Amino acid sequence: MTAAPLLPRPFRVLATRPETADTTTLTIEPADGRPLAFAAGQFTMLGTFGGAEAPISVTSSPLAGPMEQTIRDMGGVTHDLTTAEPGHLLTVRGPYGTGWNITDGVGGDLVFVAGGIGLAPLRSALLEALANRTAYRRVVLLYGARTPAEQVFRDDLARWAHGDGGIALDVTVDRAGRGWAGPVGLVTNLIPGAGFDPAQTLALVCGPEVMMRFVATALIDAGVPAGRIRISLERNMKCGIGLCGHCQLRELFICTDGPVLPYDKVAGLMTVREL
Ligand SMILES: Cc1cc2nc3c(=O)[nH]c(=O)nc-3n(C[C@H](O)[C@H](O)[C@H](O)COP(=O)(O)OP(=O)(O)OC[C@H]3O[C@@H](n4cnc5c(N)ncnc54)[C@H](O)[C@@H]3O)c2cc1C
Repeated sequence: MTAAPLLPRPFRVLATRPETADTTTLTIEPADGRPLAFAAGQFTMLGTFGGAEAPISVTSSPLAGPMEQTIRDMGGVTHDLTTAEPGHLLTVRGPYGTGWNITDGVGGDLVFVAGGIGLAPLRSALLEALANRTAYRRVVLLYGARTPAEQVFRDDLARWAHGDGGIALDVTVDRAGRGWAGPVGLVTNLIPGAGFDPAQTLALVCGPEVMMRFVATALIDAGVPAGRIRISLERNMKCGIGLCGHCQLRELFICTDGPVLPYDKVAGLMTVREL
């Protein structure tokens, strides 16, 4: 976090890449030339000048390359962000929150399980793992999307499917269309065949909350300790630094205690609905 944690900085949109019909990846750079260091799993409060802000995870590698954030058009703020064009200035606060801390899995297996746009925050950690691939035994990505058209990062998925980077990738969809030859069904179906050693696994899960609950349960059934499963929780947020209380979930402030949290700490809280 910067010395003035609530002060937004101007960032310029360098490029935009459509991922799906409602989701866009923005490549952005600091207009003042000072790079923004972040950890995989952290988020920024991203906004338009004069407009409101939304918490958005960083999608790009924390180690190299330009900063990318992937946004689904859900409402006012995210609509403005997904329709920003190269040259536009945006505001960025942060980075905020906890990271995936994949180095806790060094020497063992890293199992990434993503649902839909949940691949966005995980991609940052995946790129970090692939940059240090020899530190891990097996790196697995299990990815589920509603339909083939709703998959994000299709270029990455195509490269990883061909073995680039040494990642074991399995993809499934809820509903197949014409031309889909892969598995159909829930992402949990992919867990038994993923070939990881549960006793030496760090699992990182991101997607809709119900999906994360089912995936965590399936991983625990497969022998992964609940404390070695990390999920990323979403709650409505305003300040991002634990002051306003918008994202409070019982004793936790999701913006500062999370968004990445060990499953054993939050399993009992995930049924608590937002106000
Ligand atoms: C830590 C964190 C990281 C996030 N990372 C990303 C990301 O990488 N990409 C991305 O597209 N989105 C991400 N989100 C969700 C994103 O912040 C919301 O979609 C956005 O704030 C909606 O604002 P809006 O003004 O566009 O829509 P609004 O009009 O405010 O909301 C549109 C709809 O989305 C619901 N909604 C709003 N915020 C949330 C939320 N946090 N969780 C669940 N439902 C919500 C509203 O209830 C409403 O139904 C993240 C959220 C958090 C908390």
